[in-house]
Amino acid sequence: MSEETDSVQPPNLDALPRFAGIATFMRLPLVDDADALDIALSGVPWDGGTTNRPGARHGPREIRNASSLIRRINPANGIAPFALCRVADVGDAPVNPVDVMDSLTRVQGFFARIIAAGAVPLSAGGDHLVTLPILRALATGGPVGLVHFDAHSDTWDTYFGGYRYTHGTPFRRAVEEHLIDPRRTIQIGIRGSLYDEGELDFALEQGMRVVRIEEFYDLGLDAVVAEARRIVGDGPTYVSFDVDGLDPVYAPGTGTPEVGGFTTHEAQRMIRGLAGLDLVGADVVEVAPPFDPSGNTALVGATMMFELLCVLADAAHRRRGG
Ligand code: MN
Ligand code: MN
Repeated sequence: MSEETDSVQPPNLDALPRFAGIATFMRLPLVDDADALDIALSGVPWDGGTTNRPGARHGPREIRNASSLIRRINPANGIAPFALCRVADVGDAPVNPVDVMDSLTRVQGFFARIIAAGAVPLSAGGDHLVTLPILRALATGGPVGLVHFDAHSDTWDTYFGGYRYTHGTPFRRAVEEHLIDPRRTIQIGIRGSLYDEGELDFALEQGMRVVRIEEFYDLGLDAVVAEARRIVGDGPTYVSFDVDGLDPVYAPGTGTPEVGGFTTHEAQRMIRGLAGLDLVGADVVEVAPPFDPSGNTALVGATMMFELLCVLADAAHRRRGG
């Protein structure tokens, strides 16, 4: 293990109890930039794309707090991400709470610097529109594959008289901008009542694989994971995890809950099932603390970030020839 790797370990339990100190993601050091990192954890405290119940702007702060419960090793797959990779908290993306387009520019610039430094981005939103500027920063070499966990397809065209940028539209924009390859995209957990029976037409016509929640339970978890691996293949792949994909029993603190979702354990197993893919970044979005009085949704968000960190660290380690 290199000295640099040692330098970004969470503090030893003997030195500092987990409830003490300033809250950072997984108790990692807070650093100014991603230059010395393999994986950069960050927050995007912004919910200006929210169409219904706002609050996800408060997600990063609460996820950081809940993430102090995370330890070092994932016992299910044996991955110890802080031993494989240099990981730290690079803080929050700059945002403008009263200007959507300015925020998209600011967030894209923040992630472009992380990627230029050679680090893999793993972030906490924020509403789901934050994934669009992240993909703009990430997909400069061509469209990436996408594993998208969500109750919603987020491929609407416009809201409120032609407005194109909301948390219901990021993946339509990402297809139009050639940031994701729709034929290397899988959406898992889709459900909820519709405004219009043609709501999934765009996703299906573009060739996205849409796994509605009924099909998820009919096929079973292992078959859905195998399908996800087949769809994204060997190419670079991003993972976007909207906590409303989970049943609201597990993650009530979100703006657009839909009953009848998958469980936290199923989500953990699906993320672990992505190990070995060429994963180039990930996010956890739509944790909305104002609707999360128990704090459990923030803990769920932190835990999903840790599961994603483990498979990202494994992928980054293997890309380095480890
Ligand atoms: Mn979403
Ligand atoms: Mn959603």
